[in-house]
Amino acid sequence: MIFGVNLINEAGNLIYMPFWKRKKAEIRIDPLCGKEVDPKLAMFSEHMGETYYFCSGGCKQKWEENPHKHPRM
Ligand SMILES: [Zn+2]
Repeated sequence: MIFGVNLINEAGNLIYMPFWKRKKAEIRIDPLCGKEVDPKLAMFSEHMGETYYFCSGGCKQKWEENPHKHPRM
């Protein structure tokens, strides 16, 4: 079982971040299906200077076929 992730903070130190301490701001919305995704664990795609996060490879692939059909959420 995984209860957290190791992160590097601004000072360059490795810190342990339990899942329950993470801020809401770290959650992104999958632009294709609308699911909440964790940007640290999610697949992502860069488009027009923006980074988009996806719940699955299927969502990423579908979105990349036609990014303009699915506006940023
Ligand atoms: Zn999705």
